[in-house]
Amino acid sequence: MKIVVWIEFTSGKVKASSLETLGSARLLAESASGEVIGVCCGEGAGEVSTTILSAGAHRIIVREGDSLANAHSDAFATELSQVATSESADLVLASATSSGKELIALAAGGLGTCVASDCISISCEDDSLITERPIYAGKAHHRQKWITSPAFISLRPNYGEQVERDAATVDSQEATGKSVLKRTAFVEGSRGKKELTEAEIIISGGRGLKEPQNFALLESLADVLDAAVGASRAVVDAGWRPHSDQVGQTGKTVSPKLYIAVGISGAIQHLAGMSSSRTIVAINKDAGAPIFSVATYGVVGDLFEVIPRLEEELKSVLQ
Ligand SMILES: Cc1cc2nc3c(=O)[nH]c(=O)nc-3n(C[C@H](O)[C@H](O)[C@H](O)COP(=O)(O)OP(=O)(O)OC[C@H]3O[C@@H](n4cnc5c(N)ncnc54)[C@H](O)[C@@H]3O)c2cc1C
Repeated sequence: MKIVVWIEFTSGKVKASSLETLGSARLLAESASGEVIGVCCGEGAGEVSTTILSAGAHRIIVREGDSLANAHSDAFATELSQVATSESADLVLASATSSGKELIALAAGGLGTCVASDCISISCEDDSLITERPIYAGKAHHRQKWITSPAFISLRPNYGEQVERDAATVDSQEATGKSVLKRTAFVEGSRGKKELTEAEIIISGGRGLKEPQNFALLESLADVLDAAVGASRAVVDAGWRPHSDQVGQTGKTVSPKLYIAVGISGAIQHLAGMSSSRTIVAINKDAGAPIFSVATYGVVGDLFEVIPRLEEELKSVLQ
């Protein structure tokens, strides 16, 4: 089985979710006598490739060239589908970030084949590829057996594991993909802020925080835990937090190792974006709040008392 993996990077740094995707690909390849080919495209790709030589790929294809300068995803999708075709790939993987999902869909569309987006597991059974993805806002899981190839799949961040293997070889090629759009400016919105979909720990706040200034409580706890801060739609609609912080059906889908929901009732639309988190801690003063139905651990109490005490305890343990 030949597996092509799209490597996503920004400012010269490969995203953790891409390293997990490489890890998942390598484990699958080892169970199916396969080969993993990483694809690193765009400005600085050559240098970036040297930072991931041992991350699970057997080979890394680097594609750089003037045609990719300030290019839109369509040009990168062309690069990916060209590699998939020239390598006769059985499977093409990207991490299910916003740009990973867009790219994998464009690349599959270009080859007239279909996509499974945001999968949480991928395996090989009786020589067939099996994928599993949540549907109906997480209420059910869809298991699919692939009967065509190449299969284009995006994998939900925090579902794979990073691996370390012998160093990959690097093959440099000239990029040829062209874009119908060119970027004219790049404005970074949240410099230095932890990206929600990449974070291993997320602390999200809801209307129970009463007013926007009280998010400082969560920011402070987040510093101790090296966590990202998310929000429910109620507080985003109220203008307390930006939409980029919203978790849920109309916000981001996250699956961190630890999700702490603070003053969030647990409406179905919120659960849709976070119920696949590994461990969920809910802090709510209403013992009947629906969030407790998905929580691994629940604290029934006033967040204004619980959060400062939790921070104090964690500081004494962690620092
Ligand atoms: C089409 C559609 C899409 C939607 N998409 C999303 C989405 O993507 N994400 C999302 O989050 N919502 C979404 N919603 C909104 C969703 O239905 C809820 O209205 C919203 O999630 C509620 O936010 P909340 O839990 O912060 O507020 P509330 O439901 O008001 O809950 C506040 C909670 O705080 C608790 N609380 C209050 N004071 C304290 C205290 N001192 N200590 C501890 N706990 C306290 C209360 O007991 C309560 O449970 C969507 C709705 C629709 C119709």
